[in-house]
Amino acid sequence: MMRRYRTLFLDLDDTLYPSGNGVWDAIGDRINQYMLERHGIPSEKIPELRDSYFRNYGTTLHGLMVHHGADPGDYLNFVHDIPLDEYLQPNPELKAMLSRLPQQLVIFTNASRDHVHRVLQCLDIAGHINAIVDIETMELHHKPQPRAYQIALEIAGEDNARACVLIDDRIENLLPGASLGMTTVHVKDMIIDGPADFHIPSITDLLSAIPQLVED
Ligand SMILES: [Mg+2]
Repeated sequence: MMRRYRTLFLDLDDTLYPSGNGVWDAIGDRINQYMLERHGIPSEKIPELRDSYFRNYGTTLHGLMVHHGADPGDYLNFVHDIPLDEYLQPNPELKAMLSRLPQQLVIFTNASRDHVHRVLQCLDIAGHINAIVDIETMELHHKPQPRAYQIALEIAGEDNARACVLIDDRIENLLPGASLGMTTVHVKDMIIDGPADFHIPSITDLLSAIPQLVED
């Protein structure tokens, strides 16, 4: 029998490691610092602007490019410049699970390529990842823009979205994949009702949710 799933698209931040471990707060502090130092945006305006850019454009970067002419390379280097090894440790359970999966494993993230490599190193899973679709390879397209999913499929060399599983901690990022026919997995430590095919509290619960990934 033909295996149903050939490709897994894995989000990176807050998906391959638990949210609330400090990484996102540290990146958030760097984003605030960037807006203040590089663009002179007053501190008291920053939270509201970040929220509005994120809601209207999908990323803070996109809003900063449109309204402040931000340079994307400079932004990405600046905000990801955090001591990752203070927050992330090797995850042997995750590594063991990834080593069992016969599908091609593709990181699909709005973060920069450099950040992806560093996170994979810290978690000690770099050797199990077959491809990386990051914001630079997407030429600044980003989830949840539909174009991002087309680019991800192209880079993965995958012509059938139904053979793909999309894994992300944000429901908004799962929706465009679902409309293409991907199976969607929402990773969140609290269960939120949302239109995903599966909800799991941690990435290491993936095989209990979809045992056929390794069974066919
Ligand atoms: Mg995420």
